[in-house]
Amino acid sequence: MRDPVGIVGAGLVGLATARHLARSGVPVVVWEKEATVARHQSGHNSGVVHAGIYYPPGSAKARNCRRGVELLRGYCAGRGLPWDERGKLVVARDEAETGRLREIERRAQANGVPGVRWLDGPAIRALEPDVAGVAALLSPTTAIVDFPAIARAFAADVTERGGQILTGTPVTAVRRHGDGVHVSTPAGTHPVSRLVICAGLQTDLLARAAGDRAAPEIIPFRGEYLRLQPGVRDRVRHLIYPVPDPAYPFLGVHLTPRIDGEVDLGPNAVLALAREGYRWRDVSAGQLSRLARSAAFRRLARQNWRAGLREMHGSLSRRAFLAEARSYLPWLESGHVVPAPAGVRAQAVDPDGSLVDDFRIHRIGLVTAIRNAPSPAATSSMAIAEQIVGELSISPVQGGR
Ligand SMILES: Cc1cc2nc3c(=O)[nH]c(=O)nc-3n(C[C@H](O)[C@H](O)[C@H](O)COP(=O)(O)OP(=O)(O)OC[C@H]3O[C@@H](n4cnc5c(N)ncnc54)[C@H](O)[C@@H]3O)c2cc1C
Repeated sequence: MRDPVGIVGAGLVGLATARHLARSGVPVVVWEKEATVARHQSGHNSGVVHAGIYYPPGSAKARNCRRGVELLRGYCAGRGLPWDERGKLVVARDEAETGRLREIERRAQANGVPGVRWLDGPAIRALEPDVAGVAALLSPTTAIVDFPAIARAFAADVTERGGQILTGTPVTAVRRHGDGVHVSTPAGTHPVSRLVICAGLQTDLLARAAGDRAAPEIIPFRGEYLRLQPGVRDRVRHLIYPVPDPAYPFLGVHLTPRIDGEVDLGPNAVLALAREGYRWRDVSAGQLSRLARSAAFRRLARQNWRAGLREMHGSLSRRAFLAEARSYLPWLESGHVVPAPAGVRAQAVDPDGSLVDDFRIHRIGLVTAIRNAPSPAATSSMAIAEQIVGELSISPVQGGR
């Protein structure tokens, strides 16, 4: 009997990969340090199935997002999981943003996103009377889903096929040798034939332990949300996004209906002082000292201090947070919102201080490390899994499917 393929991390990417392997009859074991699956990014995000309008044509994001939408839609339909095709408006607030919106329209067409339409001001108001803007791009197939429920369904598929998901089990060391890899956990040392590291916020640390290079390193960016009070929830039906700043991989504070009926505004992007720093008071001495020693972080901070201060101000002052959203939702008042749970993004940063935009996967012998899987990696998880498994070159087992 051959050693199983090991996977670190039971987020959407790790679980989709485990599921893909288990369905092919490949023995698989997933180690997850938390007590349940999807406890970090996969359970703390906007819940949006992105249609693929933003990403540079030909990029890994563009490819995996379009393929990921198709796979995920089929999966949710097959498993009876909710899929609410609300549609989304990306709203330009002035002429400068209109120019940038035209570029997004061009990318959407090149990426084959269905049904995308340009709207002028009156057309916006016909669709959404409470949204202000001079032009908008409508992406009618953008959907909202329940990503934690999808993660649980992936996990159930893995165990049904004989795969193991070991929660509450942190991977503490990885050692490569000639024809395999040894993975250490508090329960002992386990041989695996191949290892896939899908550890989100911890991924660079584990990849280094497996012999990968240090760069890119993960800098955690907290994304905070405000939640609309019930009385104003129904004023907008679609997802409403601003035109993103091309200098950043983040999409800007947007209004997102949730599958449970809540409507959230966010996320901003504030430097987190711990890898899993969901609140300002979560501070890790280890992470602070890593940041202090990081040349990539110093360069990032030097290049982006203005935006950093703006985001910090928005985090500390609800008024400042709301000011941005008010530029396209002018009726919004402070009394309309309450704080909502935050998420923390695992954002990879290159040694020159630039934020890595595209998905990035490293291979170090028998170890595959997912070094950058930010949004839309939840949307793309099944497509990323397909790609990872294809590149593992494992011969399928008879009877798998
Ligand atoms: C605020 C926010 C909003 C977002 N919005 C969207 C969106 O609307 N649509 C979209 O497509 N994407 C969105 N994303 C991105 C998306 O959530 C992530 O890209 C995706 O969830 C990444 O999945 P993952 O499996 O790589 O990472 P994670 O979900 O973070 O999973 C990594 C797992 O590894 C585990 N782990 C780490 N170290 C170890 C160890 N040593 N041993 C064992 N286990 C370990 C962690 O506990 C964790 O469970 C958003 C992200 C954030 C933070």
